[in-house]
Amino acid sequence: MNQAGIETFKSTCSYCGVGCGVVVEKNSKGQIKVTGDENHPVNRGMLCSKGMNLHYTVSDKSDRLLYPSMRWARHQPRRRVTWDTALDRASAVFRTFIDKHGPDSVGFYVSGQCLTEEYYTVNKLAKGFIGTNNIDTNSRLCMSSAVAGYKKSLGEDSVPISYEDIELANCFFITGANPAWCHPILFRRIEAHKEKHPDVKIIVADPRETKSCALADLHLQLNPGTDITLYHAIARCLIENGRIDKEFIQEHTDGFGDFREQVMEKPLEESASICGLEVSEIKQAAQWIGDANGFITMWAMGLNQSVDGTDKNLALINLSLITGQVGKPGSGPFSLTGQPNAMGGREVGGMASLLSSHRDLGNAEHRKEVAKRWGVDSIPAEPGYTATQMFEALRNGDMKAIWIICTNPVVSLPNSALVDEALEKAKFVIVQDISKRSETVDYADLVLPAAGYLEKEGTMTNSERRISYLNKVVDAPGEALPDAEILCRFARKMGYHGFDFDSASDIFDEHCMMTGGTNIDITGLSYEYLKQNGTVQWPFPKNAENDTPRLFTDKQFYTPNRRAQIHTQKTAQPEREGEDKPLVLTTGRIRDQWHTRTRTGKVNRLNQHIPQPYVEIHPQDAQNRKITDGDVVEITNDRGRVRVQATLSKNIKPGVVFIPMHWGKILKKDFPRANNLTSSRVDPVSKEPDFKYSTVEISKFSKA
Ligand code: SF4
Repeated sequence: MNQAGIETFKSTCSYCGVGCGVVVEKNSKGQIKVTGDENHPVNRGMLCSKGMNLHYTVSDKSDRLLYPSMRWARHQPRRRVTWDTALDRASAVFRTFIDKHGPDSVGFYVSGQCLTEEYYTVNKLAKGFIGTNNIDTNSRLCMSSAVAGYKKSLGEDSVPISYEDIELANCFFITGANPAWCHPILFRRIEAHKEKHPDVKIIVADPRETKSCALADLHLQLNPGTDITLYHAIARCLIENGRIDKEFIQEHTDGFGDFREQVMEKPLEESASICGLEVSEIKQAAQWIGDANGFITMWAMGLNQSVDGTDKNLALINLSLITGQVGKPGSGPFSLTGQPNAMGGREVGGMASLLSSHRDLGNAEHRKEVAKRWGVDSIPAEPGYTATQMFEALRNGDMKAIWIICTNPVVSLPNSALVDEALEKAKFVIVQDISKRSETVDYADLVLPAAGYLEKEGTMTNSERRISYLNKVVDAPGEALPDAEILCRFARKMGYHGFDFDSASDIFDEHCMMTGGTNIDITGLSYEYLKQNGTVQWPFPKNAENDTPRLFTDKQFYTPNRRAQIHTQKTAQPEREGEDKPLVLTTGRIRDQWHTRTRTGKVNRLNQHIPQPYVEIHPQDAQNRKITDGDVVEITNDRGRVRVQATLSKNIKPGVVFIPMHWGKILKKDFPRANNLTSSRVDPVSKEPDFKYSTVEISKFSKA
């Protein structure tokens, strides 16, 4: 504390996966101010609009859940109860269902905004003690295709590069991502690099002309869903022009022959026509990629959220592998995580298909090892229900109870009608959250108030494997408790051992211990180390002198034969049954909102950027339907409808429309919810839903 009575803390922004460092100042009245940390390696003092307004979301407690509340029968009002009563009820209900219907009758649906310690605790609770792998997360909705892609190609879910590679690259291929709005500080670093080095080439592939295109030397405005065809066409040009790294391919990869054969099958003209591009555009992209000494691919939801999301990831990673652009400065495939701790969740194995510390759930030895470390008999071998499967299981009665932590599936999951029905039919719904603004709270039989950002300590990992420690700065309001503490109290009520942690630090130590002997070894870390030394990029084993900004510098991949795997992909566009309306709907984010607006929606400054939901439509499509700018329109398909204002824009391809995913119910009318229209179809490998391709029709809304 300084002489003016101001205490200073270091922390990390709690919005996106960029993971910007912040300095939090608290005055003697408990008021806080948040600024960018000038010494932080990620953002060097910069913050985007969301980060700059973090303090409002923390200081304004008006929407907070303050006490546990419960109802004894559906459609009755919930009443305030004590923590003891709430957790007695939770444990009695869970115990009854587990005894009667087995452990898979219950499940947990959590969030990439949970801290690593919270993720660790809920994963241990479900897999180790309840005996179910029904623990999945909203990270399933944004990056599970990237996880699958990395595992199949590099042998493990490991982002190979670091932000410092941005300043070393001379060609960027940004595809299926809009970092200018969704990862703004990362984008500023690319902008600054290009300003300094105008010869750096930036290629953006996107059906929409997003803000990221402003920096692009080439915008490939491809047809939705044609990404694999584009990557194959680029690969073909690279091969034809001898711009591949033959030595790297021969020494460090498998599968090039089949891939080569596949990409040479389709004439460039045909690929260009499928993608809606000119042959010259594809050739130009390939030339810049082939010329680059440092080539980085960056992608996010545009690739991942698709029925062929895993194949899209693999096809894109192939471009890095055939050019030998992995494991060296300024190069590599780089998936951008949307949420602040999606990576931390992956590290603890906090998904229905994963196991602690990147171990393999399908490997009996790995399960045995985890069970031994947790002091339990076994870990179930079969993957649990993934995000969408969990809600289908609730609707069908296969799952009876769900515990939802720190996420708002009523707005964020696809096919909202199914989610509404699932939560109506569920026998018991627990919602653990900070805010009454979450629409999912409306469905809860039991509400548990959680401590929020800066109200608890813990760790998070950003997109470049950087682990940071987050300080507790203020007390949580009312009786709200840290999520990990709630879960530990519940576990003890259930009679489980192994949850007597004295602090978040103890949980972190146990997580670090679990990583011993794995490729993400962080046995050299502790809260003390992070507090003293700042952030660390894993792996960081015991006695390590340095952390690890870049993986695979020795070209030894994590596959069994240590060689990267070049896969072939299905090239035909996947069948999407029932999608027969004339326009393709794609959904996504806008600059100043975050997820379902439970935090950003209460900040006036952020709401001013784009104050209401809208549908972006090309003027030609609008004219055909007699729609003018600002008209209220209805967007419909067999799953539902959305009613919003039309924004006419030539930035979107004809035949494609865009609705932001943030808005839920307004005044209890569910019309702006984009997911009324999206489907539950998922990628067969990653189980990530297809948010980027649903077909719709649009008409001007008339009250009559
Ligand atoms: Fe926060 Fe992401 Fe903005 Fe950085 S870029 S300030 S982490 S929202």
